Amino acid sequence: MKKKLTSAISILLAVLFTASALPGCSSDTFSGGAGRQEAVSSPADTASPPSDTAALPDGSAPLRIYFLDVGQGDCTILTQGDSAMLIDAGDNDKGTAVQSYLEYLGIEELDYAVLTHPDADHIGGADVVLYKFDCDTILMPDAQTDTRTYDDVIQAMNAKGESAVHPAPGDVYEFGDACFTILAPVDDYDDNNNNSIVLRLDHGDNSFLFTGDAENQAEEDILSTQADVDADVLKVGHHGSSTSTSDAFLAAVSPDYAVISCGEDNKYGHPHAETLNRLRENGITVYRTDEQGTIVAESDGQDITWSSAPSDSWQSGEPSGGGQAVSDGASSGSQTSSGGSDTAAPPEQTGDVYILNTNTMKFHKPDCSSAGDISEQNRETSGKSREELIAEGYDPCGRCNR
Ligand SMILES: [Zn+2]
Ligand SMILES: [Zn+2]
Repeated sequence: MKKKLTSAISILLAVLFTASALPGCSSDTFSGGAGRQEAVSSPADTASPPSDTAALPDGSAPLRIYFLDVGQGDCTILTQGDSAMLIDAGDNDKGTAVQSYLEYLGIEELDYAVLTHPDADHIGGADVVLYKFDCDTILMPDAQTDTRTYDDVIQAMNAKGESAVHPAPGDVYEFGDACFTILAPVDDYDDNNNNSIVLRLDHGDNSFLFTGDAENQAEEDILSTQADVDADVLKVGHHGSSTSTSDAFLAAVSPDYAVISCGEDNKYGHPHAETLNRLRENGITVYRTDEQGTIVAESDGQDITWSSAPSDSWQSGEPSGGGQAVSDGASSGSQTSSGGSDTAAPPEQTGDVYILNTNTMKFHKPDCSSAGDISEQNRETSGKSREELIAEGYDPCGRCNR
Protein backbone atom coordinates (compact mmCIF):
# COMPACT_ATOMS: atom_id res chain seq x y z
CA MET A 1 0.00 0.00 0.00
CA LYS A 2 1.63 3.23 -1.14
CA LYS A 3 0.53 6.35 0.60
CA LYS A 4 2.00 9.70 -0.16
CA LEU A 5 0.51 11.97 2.43
CA THR A 6 3.23 14.57 2.30
CA SER A 7 1.50 17.89 2.37
CA ALA A 8 2.62 21.22 1.06
CA ILE A 9 2.85 22.31 4.67
CA SER A 10 5.43 19.71 5.58
CA ILE A 11 7.51 20.69 2.56
CA LEU A 12 7.25 24.31 3.59
CA LEU A 13 8.26 23.45 7.15
CA ALA A 14 11.21 21.45 5.89
CA VAL A 15 12.35 24.44 3.86
CA LEU A 16 11.95 26.80 6.79
CA PHE A 17 13.86 24.50 9.12
CA THR A 18 16.70 23.82 6.76
CA ALA A 19 17.14 26.81 4.52
CA SER A 20 19.86 28.41 6.64
CA ALA A 21 23.46 27.93 5.62
CA LEU A 22 25.08 25.13 7.57
CA PRO A 23 28.86 24.92 7.47
CA GLY A 24 29.92 21.35 6.82
CA CYS A 25 26.43 20.19 5.99
CA SER A 26 25.28 22.35 3.14
CA SER A 27 27.15 21.47 0.01
CA ASP A 28 28.63 18.08 -0.67
CA THR A 29 26.59 16.15 1.82
CA PHE A 30 23.77 15.31 -0.52
CA SER A 31 24.37 15.07 -4.21
CA GLY A 32 21.37 12.94 -4.95
CA GLY A 33 18.75 13.36 -7.60
CA ALA A 34 15.68 13.32 -5.37
CA GLY A 35 13.57 16.26 -6.44
CA ARG A 36 12.84 17.55 -2.97
CA GLN A 37 16.51 18.20 -2.29
CA GLU A 38 16.43 21.22 -4.59
CA ALA A 39 14.13 22.89 -2.14
CA VAL A 40 16.73 22.91 0.59
CA SER A 41 20.07 23.57 -1.07
CA SER A 42 20.84 26.26 -3.59
CA PRO A 43 22.12 25.29 -7.06
CA ALA A 44 25.36 27.16 -6.35
CA ASP A 45 26.19 24.57 -3.70
CA THR A 46 26.86 21.89 -6.22
CA ALA A 47 29.65 23.96 -7.72
CA SER A 48 31.53 24.47 -4.48
CA PRO A 49 34.64 22.36 -3.96
CA PRO A 50 34.32 19.39 -1.61
CA SER A 51 35.14 20.56 1.90
CA ASP A 52 37.63 18.05 3.30
CA THR A 53 37.95 19.84 6.57
CA ALA A 54 34.85 21.24 8.16
CA ALA A 55 36.27 23.69 10.65
CA LEU A 56 34.66 23.93 14.07
CA PRO A 57 34.60 27.21 16.00
CA ASP A 58 37.48 27.70 18.46
CA GLY A 59 36.77 26.15 21.84
CA SER A 60 33.84 24.15 20.49
CA ALA A 61 32.56 21.52 22.92
CA PRO A 62 32.97 17.86 21.99
CA LEU A 63 30.12 15.88 20.50
CA ARG A 64 29.17 13.01 22.79
CA ILE A 65 27.11 10.06 21.68
CA TYR A 66 25.66 7.74 24.30
CA PHE A 67 24.56 4.39 22.93
CA LEU A 68 22.37 3.34 25.83
CA ASP A 69 22.12 -0.26 26.89
CA VAL A 70 18.34 -0.70 26.73
CA GLY A 71 18.39 -4.44 26.17
CA GLN A 72 16.75 -5.45 22.87
CA GLY A 73 16.00 -2.06 21.34
CA ASP A 74 17.61 1.22 20.40
CA CYS A 75 18.26 4.44 22.28
CA THR A 76 20.96 6.98 21.54
CA ILE A 77 21.50 10.35 23.23
CA LEU A 78 23.67 12.99 21.58
CA THR A 79 25.00 16.19 23.15
CA GLN A 80 27.08 19.05 21.75
CA GLY A 81 27.51 22.07 23.95
CA ASP A 82 24.03 23.01 25.14
CA SER A 83 22.28 21.01 22.45
CA ALA A 84 20.74 17.62 23.11
CA MET A 85 19.12 15.08 20.89
CA LEU A 86 17.53 11.67 21.26
CA ILE A 87 17.32 8.97 18.62
CA ASP A 88 14.76 6.36 19.75
CA ALA A 89 13.87 5.57 23.36
CA GLY A 90 13.97 1.82 23.86
CA ASP A 91 11.04 -0.48 24.57
CA ASN A 92 7.97 0.21 26.70
CA ASP A 93 9.66 -0.65 30.01
CA LYS A 94 12.71 1.57 29.34
CA GLY A 95 11.13 5.04 29.42
CA THR A 96 12.09 5.77 33.01
CA ALA A 97 15.66 4.55 32.52
CA VAL A 98 16.02 6.84 29.51
CA GLN A 99 14.52 9.70 31.51
CA SER A 100 17.02 9.04 34.32
CA TYR A 101 19.94 9.01 31.93
CA LEU A 102 18.86 12.32 30.37
CA GLU A 103 18.57 13.83 33.87
CA TYR A 104 21.93 12.33 34.84
CA LEU A 105 23.46 14.17 31.87
CA GLY A 106 21.84 17.41 33.05
CA ILE A 107 19.59 17.60 30.01
CA GLU A 108 16.46 19.67 30.63
CA GLU A 109 15.03 19.80 27.16
CA LEU A 110 15.67 18.22 23.80
CA ASP A 111 16.44 20.02 20.57
CA TYR A 112 15.41 16.91 18.64
CA ALA A 113 13.73 13.60 19.28
CA VAL A 114 14.07 11.31 16.28
CA LEU A 115 11.73 8.33 16.45
CA THR A 116 13.11 6.27 13.60
CA HIS A 117 10.04 4.07 13.06
CA PRO A 118 6.97 3.05 15.06
CA ASP A 119 8.19 -0.32 16.41
CA ALA A 120 7.93 -0.76 20.19
CA ASP A 121 11.64 -1.44 20.70
CA HIS A 122 12.33 2.09 19.34
CA ILE A 123 9.39 4.25 20.43
CA GLY A 124 8.17 2.28 23.47
CA GLY A 125 9.88 4.56 25.99
CA ALA A 126 9.23 7.74 24.03
CA ASP A 127 5.90 8.55 25.70
CA VAL A 128 7.60 8.89 29.09
CA VAL A 129 10.42 10.99 27.64
CA LEU A 130 8.05 13.29 25.74
CA TYR A 131 5.92 13.83 28.85
CA LYS A 132 8.98 14.71 30.92
CA PHE A 133 11.06 16.78 28.48
CA ASP A 134 10.04 19.59 26.19
CA CYS A 135 11.24 18.94 22.69
CA ASP A 136 11.81 21.51 19.95
CA THR A 137 11.48 19.21 16.97
CA ILE A 138 10.13 15.67 16.84
CA LEU A 139 11.01 13.77 13.69
CA MET A 140 9.05 10.68 12.70
CA PRO A 141 8.53 8.93 9.37
CA ASP A 142 5.11 9.36 7.77
CA ALA A 143 4.18 5.83 8.85
CA GLN A 144 1.38 5.21 11.31
CA THR A 145 0.77 1.94 13.03
CA ASP A 146 -2.21 0.59 14.89
CA THR A 147 -0.70 -0.17 18.29
CA ARG A 148 -1.23 1.11 21.79
CA THR A 149 2.48 1.91 21.96
CA TYR A 150 2.16 4.23 18.98
CA ASP A 151 -1.02 5.79 20.37
CA ASP A 152 0.76 6.47 23.66
CA VAL A 153 3.47 8.43 21.85
CA ILE A 154 0.92 10.44 19.88
CA GLN A 155 -1.04 11.11 23.09
CA ALA A 156 2.12 12.30 24.86
CA MET A 157 2.82 14.69 21.97
CA ASN A 158 -0.76 15.95 21.98
CA ALA A 159 -0.64 16.49 25.74
CA LYS A 160 2.43 18.70 25.25
CA GLY A 161 0.99 20.47 22.23
CA GLU A 162 3.73 19.03 20.05
CA SER A 163 3.54 17.32 16.70
CA ALA A 164 5.94 15.40 14.53
CA VAL A 165 7.70 16.59 11.40
CA HIS A 166 8.09 14.01 8.62
CA PRO A 167 11.50 14.75 7.16
CA ALA A 168 12.50 14.07 3.56
CA PRO A 169 15.83 12.89 2.14
CA GLY A 170 18.18 15.84 1.74
CA ASP A 171 16.72 17.83 4.64
CA VAL A 172 19.49 19.25 6.82
CA TYR A 173 19.16 20.16 10.49
CA GLU A 174 21.53 22.18 12.61
CA PHE A 175 22.59 20.58 15.89
CA GLY A 176 24.89 22.89 17.88
CA ASP A 177 28.19 22.95 15.99
CA ALA A 178 27.19 19.73 14.27
CA CYS A 179 24.44 19.07 11.76
CA PHE A 180 22.60 16.12 10.34
CA THR A 181 21.22 15.17 6.97
CA ILE A 182 18.18 12.98 6.39
CA LEU A 183 18.91 10.11 3.98
CA ALA A 184 15.76 8.00 4.33
CA PRO A 185 13.01 6.89 4.08
CA VAL A 186 13.30 7.36 0.34
CA ASP A 187 9.93 5.70 -0.33
CA ASP A 188 6.85 4.43 1.53
CA TYR A 189 7.19 0.79 2.49
CA ASP A 190 4.84 -1.87 3.79
CA ASP A 191 7.53 -2.96 6.23
CA ASN A 192 7.90 -0.55 9.14
CA ASN A 193 11.62 -1.26 9.44
CA ASN A 194 12.23 0.03 5.93
CA ASN A 195 10.36 3.22 6.79
CA SER A 196 13.12 4.04 9.30
CA ILE A 197 14.52 7.54 9.32
CA VAL A 198 18.20 7.23 8.40
CA LEU A 199 20.45 10.20 9.08
CA ARG A 200 24.10 11.10 8.88
CA LEU A 201 25.43 13.45 11.55
CA ASP A 202 28.54 15.49 10.77
CA HIS A 203 30.77 17.05 13.40
CA GLY A 204 33.90 18.60 11.95
CA ASP A 205 35.60 15.80 10.04
CA ASN A 206 33.76 13.06 11.92
CA SER A 207 30.52 11.54 10.76
CA PHE A 208 28.06 9.07 12.16
CA LEU A 209 25.37 7.13 10.34
CA PHE A 210 22.20 6.12 12.20
CA THR A 211 20.07 3.62 10.36
CA GLY A 212 17.24 2.57 12.70
CA ASP A 213 15.98 -0.80 11.50
CA ALA A 214 16.40 -0.04 7.78
CA GLU A 215 16.83 -3.27 5.86
CA ASN A 216 18.33 -4.23 2.51
CA GLN A 217 15.56 -2.68 0.38
CA ALA A 218 15.87 0.67 2.14
CA GLU A 219 19.67 0.53 1.94
CA GLU A 220 19.47 -0.11 -1.79
CA ASP A 221 17.11 2.82 -2.26
CA ILE A 222 19.39 5.12 -0.25
CA LEU A 223 22.33 4.17 -2.45
CA SER A 224 20.21 4.82 -5.55
CA THR A 225 19.79 8.47 -4.49
CA GLN A 226 23.58 8.91 -4.69
CA ALA A 227 23.49 10.43 -1.21
CA ASP A 228 26.82 10.58 0.59
CA VAL A 229 26.63 7.80 3.20
CA ASP A 230 30.31 7.70 4.07
CA ALA A 231 30.78 7.69 7.85
CA ASP A 232 33.38 6.94 10.52
CA VAL A 233 30.83 5.22 12.72
CA LEU A 234 27.93 3.06 11.57
CA LYS A 235 25.12 2.40 13.99
CA VAL A 236 24.36 -1.01 12.53
CA GLY A 237 20.86 -1.44 11.10
CA HIS A 238 18.24 -3.60 12.80
CA HIS A 239 20.34 -4.73 15.77
CA GLY A 240 22.81 -6.60 13.56
CA SER A 241 20.21 -8.63 11.66
CA SER A 242 21.46 -10.28 8.47
CA THR A 243 18.58 -8.58 6.62
CA SER A 244 20.46 -5.27 6.96
CA THR A 245 24.03 -4.09 6.34
CA SER A 246 24.38 -5.46 2.81
CA ASP A 247 27.85 -5.69 1.28
CA ALA A 248 27.09 -2.81 -1.07
CA PHE A 249 25.82 -0.59 1.71
CA LEU A 250 28.73 -1.39 4.01
CA ALA A 251 31.19 -0.67 1.20
CA ALA A 252 29.58 2.71 0.58
CA VAL A 253 29.58 3.66 4.27
CA SER A 254 33.09 2.26 4.83
CA PRO A 255 33.06 2.87 8.59
CA ASP A 256 36.00 2.41 10.95
CA TYR A 257 33.65 1.59 13.80
CA ALA A 258 30.29 -0.13 14.13
CA VAL A 259 27.90 -0.07 17.09
CA ILE A 260 25.30 -2.80 17.56
CA SER A 261 22.44 -2.25 20.00
CA CYS A 262 20.86 -5.51 21.11
CA GLY A 263 19.86 -7.43 24.23
CA GLU A 264 21.76 -10.33 25.70
CA ASP A 265 20.16 -13.65 24.66
CA ASN A 266 17.54 -11.87 22.55
CA LYS A 267 15.03 -14.13 20.82
CA TYR A 268 15.97 -12.91 17.34
CA GLY A 269 19.55 -14.17 17.50
CA HIS A 270 20.89 -10.61 16.97
CA PRO A 271 23.54 -9.92 15.99
CA HIS A 272 23.56 -12.51 13.23
CA ALA A 273 26.82 -14.26 12.34
CA GLU A 274 26.48 -13.12 8.73
CA THR A 275 26.56 -9.47 9.78
CA LEU A 276 29.46 -9.95 12.19
CA ASN A 277 31.37 -11.75 9.41
CA ARG A 278 30.89 -8.82 7.07
CA LEU A 279 32.07 -6.34 9.68
CA ARG A 280 35.06 -8.51 10.54
CA GLU A 281 36.07 -9.06 6.92
CA ASN A 282 36.11 -5.30 6.46
CA GLY A 283 38.32 -4.77 9.49
CA ILE A 284 35.69 -2.77 11.35
CA THR A 285 35.96 -2.29 15.11
CA VAL A 286 32.72 -3.40 16.76
CA TYR A 287 31.01 -2.24 19.94
CA ARG A 288 27.93 -4.02 21.31
CA THR A 289 25.55 -2.91 24.02
CA ASP A 290 24.88 -6.54 25.01
CA GLU A 291 28.59 -6.91 25.84
CA GLN A 292 29.93 -3.43 26.60
CA GLY A 293 26.75 -2.03 28.18
CA THR A 294 26.21 1.66 27.52
CA ILE A 295 28.88 2.92 25.13
CA VAL A 296 29.98 6.54 24.87
CA ALA A 297 31.78 7.94 21.82
CA GLU A 298 33.34 11.39 21.91
CA SER A 299 34.30 13.43 18.85
CA ASP A 300 36.43 16.57 18.86
CA GLY A 301 35.79 16.98 15.16
CA GLN A 302 39.01 15.16 14.26
CA ASP A 303 39.26 12.02 16.35
CA ILE A 304 36.75 9.73 18.03
CA THR A 305 37.42 8.22 21.45
CA TRP A 306 35.43 5.46 23.15
CA SER A 307 34.43 4.80 26.75
CA SER A 308 35.30 1.11 26.65
CA ALA A 309 37.38 -1.43 24.79
CA PRO A 310 35.64 -2.85 21.71
CA SER A 311 34.04 -6.28 21.51
CA ASP A 312 36.44 -9.05 20.64
CA SER A 313 34.08 -12.01 21.07
CA TRP A 314 32.65 -12.16 17.52
CA GLN A 315 29.85 -14.19 19.09
CA SER A 316 26.59 -14.10 17.22
CA GLY A 317 23.33 -14.19 19.11
CA GLU A 318 22.12 -17.19 17.15
CA PRO A 319 21.10 -20.25 19.16
CA SER A 320 23.43 -22.95 17.82
CA GLY A 321 25.60 -23.79 20.81
CA GLY A 322 24.75 -20.65 22.71
CA GLY A 323 26.19 -18.25 20.20
CA GLN A 324 28.84 -19.13 17.68
CA ALA A 325 32.16 -17.47 17.13
CA VAL A 326 32.43 -16.00 13.67
CA SER A 327 34.73 -17.93 11.35
CA ASP A 328 38.11 -16.49 10.55
CA GLY A 329 40.62 -18.47 12.55
CA ALA A 330 42.88 -16.14 14.48
CA SER A 331 41.58 -15.13 17.87
CA SER A 332 38.01 -16.31 17.49
CA GLY A 333 38.26 -18.45 20.63
CA SER A 334 38.44 -15.43 22.85
CA GLN A 335 35.12 -14.77 24.50
CA THR A 336 36.19 -12.00 26.78
CA SER A 337 33.47 -9.60 27.59
CA SER A 338 34.32 -6.40 29.34
CA GLY A 339 30.88 -6.46 30.93
CA GLY A 340 28.60 -3.49 31.41
CA SER A 341 30.52 -0.29 31.87
CA ASP A 342 29.60 1.02 35.30
CA THR A 343 30.82 4.52 34.59
CA ALA A 344 28.16 4.89 31.93
CA ALA A 345 25.32 3.75 34.21
CA PRO A 346 22.90 6.43 35.42
CA PRO A 347 21.49 6.58 38.93
CA GLU A 348 18.15 4.85 39.48
CA GLN A 349 15.35 7.33 39.55
CA THR A 350 11.64 7.35 39.07
CA GLY A 351 9.25 9.95 37.80
CA ASP A 352 5.52 10.38 38.01
CA VAL A 353 4.65 8.77 34.74
CA TYR A 354 2.60 5.65 35.24
CA ILE A 355 1.47 2.77 33.09
CA LEU A 356 -2.21 2.01 33.57
CA ASN A 357 -3.93 -1.29 33.13
CA THR A 358 -7.40 -0.12 32.17
CA ASN A 359 -8.76 -3.62 32.69
CA THR A 360 -7.50 -4.42 36.21
CA MET A 361 -7.46 -0.69 37.15
CA LYS A 362 -3.92 -0.98 38.52
CA PHE A 363 -1.13 1.51 37.83
CA HIS A 364 2.55 0.68 37.57
CA LYS A 365 5.85 2.47 37.30
CA PRO A 366 7.06 2.23 33.69
CA ASP A 367 9.93 -0.13 34.56
CA CYS A 368 7.75 -2.57 36.54
CA SER A 369 7.92 -6.05 35.08
CA SER A 370 4.13 -6.36 35.37
CA ALA A 371 3.75 -3.25 33.22
CA GLY A 372 5.51 -5.07 30.43
CA ASP A 373 2.89 -7.83 30.56
CA ILE A 374 -0.13 -5.60 29.98
CA SER A 375 -1.74 -6.21 26.62
CA GLU A 376 -1.65 -3.38 24.11
CA GLN A 377 -5.43 -3.18 24.41
CA ASN A 378 -5.49 -2.48 28.14
CA ARG A 379 -2.34 -0.41 28.38
CA GLU A 380 -2.28 3.35 28.77
CA THR A 381 0.46 5.77 29.73
CA SER A 382 -0.46 8.57 32.09
CA GLY A 383 1.28 11.73 33.18
CA LYS A 384 -1.12 12.09 36.11
CA SER A 385 0.04 11.99 39.71
CA ARG A 386 -0.40 9.02 42.02
CA GLU A 387 -3.08 10.90 43.94
CA GLU A 388 -5.02 11.78 40.81
CA LEU A 389 -4.98 8.18 39.63
CA ILE A 390 -6.17 6.88 42.99
CA ALA A 391 -8.93 9.49 42.87
CA GLU A 392 -9.93 8.05 39.49
CA GLY A 393 -10.29 4.59 40.99
CA TYR A 394 -6.89 3.12 40.13
CA ASP A 395 -4.89 1.08 42.65
CA PRO A 396 -1.11 1.19 42.89
CA CYS A 397 0.66 -2.03 41.88
CA GLY A 398 1.80 -3.84 45.01
CA ARG A 399 5.10 -4.81 43.45
CA CYS A 400 6.50 -1.53 42.15
CA ASN A 401 4.41 1.06 43.83
CA ARG A 402 3.38 0.30 47.41
ZN1 LIG B 1 14.34 -2.57 16.32
ZN1 LIG C 1 11.77 -2.36 13.88
